[in-house]
Amino acid sequence: MDDKKLRKKYKFFQWFTVLLFCILIMRLVTLQLLETSIYRTKAEQNQFRLLPIHAPRGDITDCNGKVLAANKIVNTVSLIRQQTGTEAMEQTIENLAMLLNEFYPEIDTNYIKQILDEHKERSYEPVVIKRDIPIEVVTCLEERRQDLKGVIIDKEMVRFYPENFMASHVIGHIGEISEDELKNDEYYKQGDLIGRFGLEAQYEKSLRGKNGFRQVEVDVNGRPISNENLKRVEPEQGNKLVLTLDNDLQKTLEESMDKSLEQLKKSAGAAVVIDVKTGAILAMTSRPSFDPNKLVPPVSTKAVQEYINPGEGKKSVMQNRVISSKYPPGSTFKPVTGLAGLESGKVKASDVFNCKGVWSETNTRCTKAHGRVDFLRGMAASCNIYFIEAGRRAGIDIIYKYIQELGLDQKTGVDLPGEVSGSSSNPEKKEAAQLPILEKWYQDKQEEIEKKYDQLLKEATSEQEKNDLLFRKKDEQRVLKNEYQIKYNYDVKWRPHDTYILSFGQGANEFTPMGLANYTAAIANGGKLMRPYLVQRIESPDGKVISEFKPHVINQVDASAENLAMVREGMKKVAEIGGTAYGVFNDFPIKVAAKTGTAESGWGKDIYHGVFIAFAPADNPEIAFAGIIEEGYHGSTSAGPIAKAVFETYFGLDQEVGNGEVTESTPVTPSRPSTTPQPTTTTPADPTSPPPANGNTGGTENNRDTGDNGSDGNNGNNGDGGDSGNSGNSHQGDNGNPANEVPPSD
Ligand SMILES: [Zn+2]
Repeated sequence: MDDKKLRKKYKFFQWFTVLLFCILIMRLVTLQLLETSIYRTKAEQNQFRLLPIHAPRGDITDCNGKVLAANKIVNTVSLIRQQTGTEAMEQTIENLAMLLNEFYPEIDTNYIKQILDEHKERSYEPVVIKRDIPIEVVTCLEERRQDLKGVIIDKEMVRFYPENFMASHVIGHIGEISEDELKNDEYYKQGDLIGRFGLEAQYEKSLRGKNGFRQVEVDVNGRPISNENLKRVEPEQGNKLVLTLDNDLQKTLEESMDKSLEQLKKSAGAAVVIDVKTGAILAMTSRPSFDPNKLVPPVSTKAVQEYINPGEGKKSVMQNRVISSKYPPGSTFKPVTGLAGLESGKVKASDVFNCKGVWSETNTRCTKAHGRVDFLRGMAASCNIYFIEAGRRAGIDIIYKYIQELGLDQKTGVDLPGEVSGSSSNPEKKEAAQLPILEKWYQDKQEEIEKKYDQLLKEATSEQEKNDLLFRKKDEQRVLKNEYQIKYNYDVKWRPHDTYILSFGQGANEFTPMGLANYTAAIANGGKLMRPYLVQRIESPDGKVISEFKPHVINQVDASAENLAMVREGMKKVAEIGGTAYGVFNDFPIKVAAKTGTAESGWGKDIYHGVFIAFAPADNPEIAFAGIIEEGYHGSTSAGPIAKAVFETYFGLDQEVGNGEVTESTPVTPSRPSTTPQPTTTTPADPTSPPPANGNTGGTENNRDTGDNGSDGNNGNNGDGGDSGNSGNSHQGDNGNPANEVPPSD
């Protein structure tokens, strides 16, 4: 029995041992044969790392190949933050901070720790502490190598803007990818640089290229070990953007903008020049400006202060005022009213209105009593009374139709992010905007009365007192209802006064300088509203054309050729003797058509923006200009000279002016034929550009729009009335009092 038991036990152990061996052998087999590759990979990951090599972004050039954005090789100091928190890491940070601090006062241990904190995710990748360090800093760091464990000094290609401030709002800048962007696009890795503004953002996908990578071997401390047999895949450069922008014209535009701002002691403005036949943008500038090189990350505190948070009372910098700010047009709106009047059939160009200096119905003033004024003289002298009468006859519906026909209350569709629509008003819009405000007011007032009388009734001691209170309450409610009705008639319902002030450029209109330029171009080219654009083609790094952008007609303006010609003729008179821009162009050898504006800013009493639109040559238009100087007062003396400078450069007159050889009677052949193709009505293929993101938008601070008035200088003319108009009262179209409008002194 015992023996049997023992044998059984022995057999059990025998089988158990066999089973155990089988399991061990199987495990060994899987480890050896099947999982080897997995474990080998893991071991390699510990030792080898793949680091991205950022692709050089595509170049951006002007229409003649002048490079506006490129790349340069810079020395970069980075830190692998793997052992943060350890004593060695703390020591490294301290040592690095001390060394860099000598060259960059803002870099201290906190600065470095903050950057490391912002890049927690991929702890094994080097985090850039400072880009573009000069050779003496490199030498200094190399000499202290042994104190800088985990510090890498490397070369990399980085974005570079050789012209610094030039066209910065157009070109844009780059920035580091955000957490949100990382989640939305697998292309990017933490620390990647991405287009942040302007064309850099708009054409990110074309410009970014394809990142490469390199394998690095590191020791246990995460420091790279030299090894020749490591993998490396080279990056591919992004595609090149060839712009419609002309660097010479851009330079003139910027210099003359700065000159005007300096003379007027102002800091903000915007101007744009477009080819009227194609919509191609030849130059565009916004002030204040920035140097995109200073926004290549990591961005210095100084640059943040200067550009991102300029502080209260300072003008915002990171705002392209050409497309992202809206301004009241002032008298530059009068050609729209003029066209609407003619198109309505209720105004003939030969009709003569009598300007006695005031529109008696609403006590709206003109700059002076212009006397008998027809269409051309009305335009030349910017007579408010003429345009009030023209607007009255046409009616708001027709005026509003032409605001829309000319694209003024829409986005132009320019290939830049952050464009805002212009805004305007008509009876429906006014009611939609104002009725909810009035209703809210009425409801609040009603509740106030209820509350007041509830309390009083509670405190009342006699029946008589209660009855008196109820009577008074009813009376107050009746008065309130009357007040509501008055406000309704005034603030909500469209009044003739609203049409009058809108007609000469005040009221609810607010347009972007881009919209103004585009409408001017449409008047100039005979009624084709084009989509403005900045990129004429995209090329691969080896010069192959990938896509080409053709001119695109957004709208054929519903107006007769005769009426458009009449408006052009009127604008031509503006730059002639008796016109408000005669002072600007009296010595100019090419006929220019223009309109001046002094637009009430809504920012305070007597604060007017100087607005100016123009095209040239007046009889065979090639280019159009729109410009504004914030708080610049008269358009003719603020933005007008900028237009003149630009036209001089465009027509190659820079050297000729003043030498007496070119006179008004000498036709000058434009020296700069349009470089862009002729328009077609087909939609351009636009495969690569992302839709305009509505990024940084925002109109200018608080400007409600009002007025205009144009009086701009009649300097130098023969006194035949050139100045004009203004009127300005401040009244905002939608609720304003028909106050007396006192013209700004001229
Ligand atoms: Zn007048």
